[in-house]
Amino acid sequence: LSDKLSAAFKKLRSKGKLTEQDIKEAMREVKMALLEADVSYKVVRDFVKSVSERAVGAEVMESLTPAQQVVKIVNDELCRLMGNENQRIRFASNPPTIMMMCGLQGAGKTTHAAKLAKYFMKQNHRPLLVACDVYRPAAIDQLKVVGSQVGAPVFEMGQGDPVKIAQAAIRHAKDYGNDIVIIDTAGRLHIDETLMDELKRIKAAVSPQEIMLVVDAMTGQDAVNVAESFHNALDIDSVLLTKLDGDTRGGAALSVLAVTGKPIKFVGMGEKLDEIEPFHPERMASRILGMGDVLTLIEKAQTALDDKKADEMLQKMKQNSFDMNDLLDQMHQIRNMGSMKQLLSMIPGVGAKIKDMDIDDRQLVYIEAMITSMTKEEREKPSIINPSRKRRIAAGSGRKVEDVNRLLKQFEQMQKMMKMMSGNMKGKKGRRMRM
Ligand code: GDP
Ligand code: MG
Repeated sequence: LSDKLSAAFKKLRSKGKLTEQDIKEAMREVKMALLEADVSYKVVRDFVKSVSERAVGAEVMESLTPAQQVVKIVNDELCRLMGNENQRIRFASNPPTIMMMCGLQGAGKTTHAAKLAKYFMKQNHRPLLVACDVYRPAAIDQLKVVGSQVGAPVFEMGQGDPVKIAQAAIRHAKDYGNDIVIIDTAGRLHIDETLMDELKRIKAAVSPQEIMLVVDAMTGQDAVNVAESFHNALDIDSVLLTKLDGDTRGGAALSVLAVTGKPIKFVGMGEKLDEIEPFHPERMASRILGMGDVLTLIEKAQTALDDKKADEMLQKMKQNSFDMNDLLDQMHQIRNMGSMKQLLSMIPGVGAKIKDMDIDDRQLVYIEAMITSMTKEEREKPSIINPSRKRRIAAGSGRKVEDVNRLLKQFEQMQKMMKMMSGNMKGKKGRRMRM
């Protein structure tokens, strides 16, 4: 898939100005790519239509880098479809907050009931798990096992009436101070009326704040029918997409959203009970497109990084003559590309890791201030920077001497690394620096 899309975009990039015909061609391939990602046909059709409309308009035509614009539009439109970030659980003003997990058998309801319990316990909530999948004794045992693994209490009344169990569980939660009740319900291999009726009765009896549809991301096209049936019967509030650790592109996310219009709030990323994450539309968009925003990164890097400069830099690295002036140069180029975090998050595999990290762009400004407070000689030969020079640099840049020390130390390490890298590069004719 990603090859397909890359090819489609490469075509655009090499052409300079876009014509309507160009967009049509590219969109045909985007369409194929999405279908391959298991997005349902109707959703793909609507998506391509709205993206084309935006792309054919002035936005792209008048832009200086048309390909860059199209990539952005495709990505933006995917994000928009998948809803806004940070769709959190709405807690009841009068506890307990009642959540009901629904979905087909094997989707991951029981596992994710426990994952959610653990997730909420970390936020100082006191969830209660409720065993309302009463048809197989093994299902109750399974909930007890995962419940004890995460340290959450499990309420069960054996194979009784699920409606009565749910009601009793809520009384129990009130008595014992559980502020969240997570109801694990039965599933079937296929949608059937009896199941839907039972879920409707539980819903009517306990009025959950959050009816969460659990969907296996690997089910692809079928996800549409499943979501439609559950939504029609229960009017769900949100979706939890499981098994995203598999090799699926996750086209199901797009389909489910288009059909229900309800946000995906969490995703399941594995069998372990801490493998759950809040949903991030832009990550999902990258995943569906299969390119981790690489194209945007490449575009940005290309506009900001002047080829000649890159060559010079490479030569300097090879000759070990990279000094603080070069560092300053590099920093300006990075700044032209956008924020550090934004930049890092576009590198595939890195995005997820730094998502919740606070990367402080001010650090760059501080470093810049310190380097500009150095004399030309000091920048070329940092080793001459003695304590009195350090004090002067610190005073000049409004930083502390420790900050200057840290910068010098980091620079030294950088030089060492470059030495190693240039060793590896000998013989190779790497014309451009790759990020
Ligand atoms: P339920 O029938 O909907 O209650 O589904 P279960 O919670 O029993 O899960 C069915 C199977 O899928 C179990 O073997 C789980 O370990 C597995 N499973 C659930 N969620 C995930 C996930 O996010 N990733 C992976 N790889 N497996 C999962
Ligand atoms: Mg289950």
